[in-house]
Formats: sequence, C-alpha cells, structure tokens
Amino acid sequence: MVSAMPRDIRNIRNIGIVAHIDAGKTTLTERMLFYAHFIHRVGSVDEGTTVTDYDPEEQERGITIQAACVTFDWRGVHINLIDTPGHVDFTAEVERSLRVLDGAVVVFSAREGVEAQSETVWRQADKYHVPRIAFINKMDREGADYFGTLEEIEKRLECRPIPVNLPIGSGPAHFNNPFRGVIDLISMKALRFVEEGNHAEVIAEEIPEELKEEAQIWRHNMLDQLSLYSDKLTELLLAEEPIPEDLIRSVIRQATIGNLIVPVLCGSALHGIGVQPVLDAVVDYLPDPTEIPPVEGTDPENPNKKLTRKADPKEPFCGLVFKVQADRYGDLDYVRVYSGRLTANSRVLNPGKNKKENVPQLWRIQADRREQIEAVEAGDIVGIMGMRHSVTGDTLCDPKHPILLEPIVFPQTVIDMA
Ligand code: GDP
Repeated sequence: MVSAMPRDIRNIRNIGIVAHIDAGKTTLTERMLFYAHFIHRVGSVDEGTTVTDYDPEEQERGITIQAACVTFDWRGVHINLIDTPGHVDFTAEVERSLRVLDGAVVVFSAREGVEAQSETVWRQADKYHVPRIAFINKMDREGADYFGTLEEIEKRLECRPIPVNLPIGSGPAHFNNPFRGVIDLISMKALRFVEEGNHAEVIAEEIPEELKEEAQIWRHNMLDQLSLYSDKLTELLLAEEPIPEDLIRSVIRQATIGNLIVPVLCGSALHGIGVQPVLDAVVDYLPDPTEIPPVEGTDPENPNKKLTRKADPKEPFCGLVFKVQADRYGDLDYVRVYSGRLTANSRVLNPGKNKKENVPQLWRIQADRREQIEAVEAGDIVGIMGMRHSVTGDTLCDPKHPILLEPIVFPQTVIDMA
C-alpha cells in the first residue's frame, strides 16, 4: 500500500492547464491522461464523464470549478497536473493555483483566438513569472486560424511566440484540405496520429511535397529567433551546418524557462491530434522544481528577517497548502512541498497560526484514486489527510526551522460606490 521512494526532483513537472472557458482545457487534460495510459477510455466533456470533472456540481455546470491535482507519468517524468479553474468568477482560485505551478500550458481556440479570460490569466502568469507553452486547439473547426491566433498572441499578450509545429490542413474532415496532423519543425517530420480503441500511436512521415517550402521558412524563422539566445546555434546557423535536435530543444527550454519565448503547438484535443507533442513539450520545455527561484518567506518571530528555501530535499521542510478538498474520507490538504522532506506520522509547524500539526497520512493524488506514501520531498505535491488547523494559503514547516511563506494575495474586488 505504502509506495517506495520519493521521486527524483529533476523528474517532476508541476504544471497547470489554463484557458478561457470552452477553449478545450478539460478535453486536452483528458487526452493527456489517455496517452499517458492513466485512463483507458477517453471521457467526454459533453457527457460529463471526464476524470477531472468528477464533482457533480461541475458536471452539472459543465465547467471545472475545483482545482484537482492529477499525477501521471510521461517518458519517465512525473507530471503533477494542477487543474486550475477556467471561469472568470474563479480568478482568485486561478491565482492561488498559479503560485504553486512551475509552468503552464495555455490553451487557445483557433477559432476564437485570444479571449478575455486567457488574457487575464496570462497577466497573472506574468506576475508570477510562470513559464508557458501555448496550444492552439480546435484546428479541426471551421474558421480555425492558426496564424491569426499566433499574431494575436504576439500582439495582445505582448510576448514572443515561436511555433514549433505547423498544422497540416485546417478545418473539419469534410473540407478539401482538413486538419489531419502537424509538422514538427525540429525533426522536420510530418506527424500522423493514429488511435484505435485503447491503442494510440504517433507516426513520423516525410513532409508532404506541397508543404516543404512553408515548413522550411517557418523552421528558419524559429532558428533565427532562437539564435538570439545561443551563440552555438548562431554559429551553426551562419555556417549553414546541421543543427542537432537536442541543441534546439535545449535552447527552447532555457528561453522558455527564462520567460523570453513561448513555444507554440497546435492540434485538436477532441480528435487526439497534436496532443502527445504537448506532453513532450511539458517534459522538454517546462522547468523542473530546481529550475525556479528559491521560495521566499520571513522568520515568523521577526517579520523583517527574510528567509529563502531551495528546492532541495536536504533543506528544512517547508510547504504551502494550496487547496483543501472535503471528500468522504475527510479533509485532504493539497500541499506544494518547496524544500526538505516530509514523512508520514511526523509533526510540522503552521507558523501563521503558531500551532503544531500532526501529519498522520500522506497521499499521492490522482483525480479518481489515491495512493498512500511514506515520504515526499522538495518539488513534489502531496495530499495530507487528517490535519486539524491548516487551511488554504497556510505555510507548513519544520518546527526547528520556522519560515512563513508569503501569503497568497487575492485580487481586490473594487466596488464602485458612486
Ligand atoms: P474547457 O471549458 O476549456 O474545459 O473546454 P472543454 O474541454 O469543456 O471543451 C468545450 C467544448 O469544446 C466541448 O464541447 C468540447 O467537445 C469542444 N472541444 C474541445 N476541444 C475541441 C477540438 O479540438 N475540436 C472541436 N471541434 N471541439 C473541441
């Protein structure tokens, strides 16, 4: 029952998917879980059978209200997917979730482009310096406009989007040039996505003749922009020498983590096209917990004394409760562990309330099931069952090394009295 070792911190990604309502966040989440073999059947948002939409109220309203945390593996990397709510009324909760994310996938609809909610969340992500990748979804819809959406992302969100894949066709299947796959501009292959029952596969093929020139132009554009961040890449580009795929990926990774660029991918979550490349991009381009700045706080005895904690299991333990979810077993506190190591049956301090807490049980949380674990280390997310005093926004820390993390700031609601 109690699982083995804590996970290797370099192999963790704490990410969220954020989007304007209806852009396809739930559908994309569902597909990612399917490809990661977490679920064996793709649920449908329209029928209310998705994993993350398990709250009956959510099913009724068709929107994701509660931020659940789903954990799954992709290419040996543990992805903690924090499901941030996607409705304008819940931006306080989005903001709270953003605090615990190391990176985000922002979903846009290729038909609607940049919508109000995506803009709001984008600004919040800017505030917390959350590195992002963009996924332009619904390429199979009539009126889907990849390049128009790309331009809107650049202009309205004031960032540097760099397409790393291109759509093959656009629009529904009955069109004469329907959306049917993507071109990976790094490997310069056309990717076809095959799905039959529980089996899913990506087939890399030659780029169709009529798209070769366009793909070359966009690849050159990508490399040109990336050369700003790497001398090595610039040299190879100028010498017209082959550029290793690994080098391109590592430059994209560094520039994304530095919030300098936003890699852009496209697809159709509904039809499972272009979703595995999103999982690859999460692993390849979004930071592991050691690549973000140390968390900051103060000494609870002396608020003027600033303290920091590195994402290192050897540091004293500290974490932040970012969500409390009541279920039939009791209250489950979702905690982002920033530093140190926490074991089951230990005692921690809640410095904000100046109370010690027992930590009876640790759980790794999946949307529909959970696994009890013995210990958790820096960089991971854990569910604690059975705490008495701690609520959302509270710090938990080693009683011998107290630290009070910055409180979560909620956006002010301005009431116009005039
Ligand atoms: P969320 O509100 O962002 O979570 O969006 P949902 O995942 O609930 O999707 C909203 C609607 O768009 C649902 O009816 C989905 O079936 C539909 N949808 C999602 N992704 C796609 C897509 O790639 N193509 C098409 N045609 N419809 C999609």
